[in-house]
Amino acid sequence: MAIWNLGSVNIDHVYHLDRLPHPGETLAAQRYAQGLGGKGANQSVAAARAGAVTRHLGAMGAGDAWVAARLQDSGVDVSGIARLDDQVTGHAIILLDRDAENSIVIHPGANRAVSEAALSDALAAMTPADTLLLQNETNGQVAAARAAAVQGARVIYSAAPFDLDAVRAVMPHVAILAMNEGEAEQLFSGVPGDLPVQGLLITRGAEGAEYRCLTTGQVFSQPSFKVSPVDTTGAGDTFTGYFAAALDQGADIAGALRLASAAAALKVTRAGTGDAIPTRAEVDAFLA
Ligand code: ADP
Repeated sequence: MAIWNLGSVNIDHVYHLDRLPHPGETLAAQRYAQGLGGKGANQSVAAARAGAVTRHLGAMGAGDAWVAARLQDSGVDVSGIARLDDQVTGHAIILLDRDAENSIVIHPGANRAVSEAALSDALAAMTPADTLLLQNETNGQVAAARAAAVQGARVIYSAAPFDLDAVRAVMPHVAILAMNEGEAEQLFSGVPGDLPVQGLLITRGAEGAEYRCLTTGQVFSQPSFKVSPVDTTGAGDTFTGYFAAALDQGADIAGALRLASAAAALKVTRAGTGDAIPTRAEVDAFLA
């Protein structure tokens, strides 16, 4: 029915350099690009481009209208993004060298100043047919997950960037926990034994993805589509957003995995994050 996504909205500042600077050194960049980023925004763009009604919840600074406009242009409802006078929009300073090695500084800014009261109010309008998406780049995940679970909605939690304490706190309200391979390893070493969720979605880059249904023990495997990678940033977010949208639209697990895998493979063939996420028409054409 609809996807509600409590997530970060970032401005990515990308600087291309011959090499990364040493401590104390100043270097001039050869090229600069600015774009929409943040795991939350990327997942909202993916879900909306997949064709799901997508409402983003979060916070930004008072300026930077182009950022919200970019989300809206992708079909995301941005009315649940608060504009805060006393906060800056979250941003990432991304340094890339010639070999695509990177150094990244993130300033969460408004992403960590989301009003939990406003979240609970907004999520009271969820229905059991809706999905809540969560990641770890904002505050308020536990309040949101609890509010959504009370409405009977499906909660999909992308445990990234990985934070064991956050995962432990949010997991009791979660239906599907989504992770890449590294995050899954950290989870399994940090929480031995049974996990209180229905399913685990684990992505393994070029090796593919799997969904483990913990209630039945069934495992669904999806190989990756073979492509020539240009930029793998945002692959996981594209996968998660498309997977959530497919389930929202009534697909079964195998169908959702296949669609998400195709969308993520297409993303990998393009430079950029939010702006590079493919549309549903492009994914359907890729699969045809
Ligand atoms: P993250 O971006 O979170 O680290 P992964 O690297 O596991 O996530 O990638 C997520 C998904 O993107 C993979 O399961 C796969 O479907 C797709 N993907 C990633 N890298 C490639 C690749 N080189 N070729 C094809 N598909 C890829």
